[in-house]
Amino acid sequence: IFFSSSAMLDDQGRMKAGIEVFRDATEIKKLEAQKKNLISLFTHDLKAPVAIVGGFVDRLLQEKAGPLTDKQGEYLRAIRKEISRLENYIHSFLDISRIEAGQVELQLEEQPIGPLLTEIVQGFRVPAADKKIHISLDIQDNLPPVKVDSLQFTRVISNLLDNAIKYSAPGKEVRVSAREEGEDLVIEIQDQGPGIAPDQQEHIFDAFYRIPGTRKKAGGSGLGLAAVRAIMEAHGGRAWVESKEGEGSRFKVAVPKQAPPCVQSSR
Ligand code: ADP
Repeated sequence: IFFSSSAMLDDQGRMKAGIEVFRDATEIKKLEAQKKNLISLFTHDLKAPVAIVGGFVDRLLQEKAGPLTDKQGEYLRAIRKEISRLENYIHSFLDISRIEAGQVELQLEEQPIGPLLTEIVQGFRVPAADKKIHISLDIQDNLPPVKVDSLQFTRVISNLLDNAIKYSAPGKEVRVSAREEGEDLVIEIQDQGPGIAPDQQEHIFDAFYRIPGTRKKAGGSGLGLAAVRAIMEAHGGRAWVESKEGEGSRFKVAVPKQAPPCVQSSR
């Protein structure tokens, strides 16, 4: 669509174009909310039939309908594996929808972030070493404690570490750090992986989005980063990426040092 500049500008300039852009953005947000709502309802409806199919496959596998030949067993186990994958997608997606809708009560506890990060990183040392990837951890001294839900926060850092390892070539390094930045405590997971092109950087936080071509290299659902963002926003925080193609990525999450009033502890 082309506008002549006089059609876009009023006599003070820019105002009319600004209103158009604003109206478009509201419209897009509304459409996105509707889309999410529909996917959420649809996913919810998938839950029961998938569980029922899984139940019948389990019965067949337990030979409740008679003995199975080797081939029948092999095919049924393959079906069971795919059903479990589908169940995982459904579970993760509904979980993200619930967090986004504020239906998950965070178990917020004020705690130092250092020991929690150390424990999470520790759990990744073996899988990283299997791929000859070294994880370094750098926690700034005297960080103030922050209010987080340990379980959900662990999910956030684990998803980011898992990706950093998954998308890095063997022999590379992953750096985890935590420091104060203004009103926030910022945790960064830096990798020396393939990096992410600027036009992909916002999309990767959308549910089910995977950068074209990724599927061939690594397994995954495209739900990890959507969960990261939803959980951080539920904490009154943020999640984003800074990256240059070919130079690796820095995934960052910020937790406010003072939890905003909208973030309610369930205790
Ligand atoms: P998944 O890893 O299961 O595909 P995510 O939501 O965690 O889903 O990530 C979405 C997409 O973002 C991935 O498919 C991949 O294309 C890209 N991505 C995520 N983390 C990284 C990373 N550290 N380096 C490069 N690309 C990444």
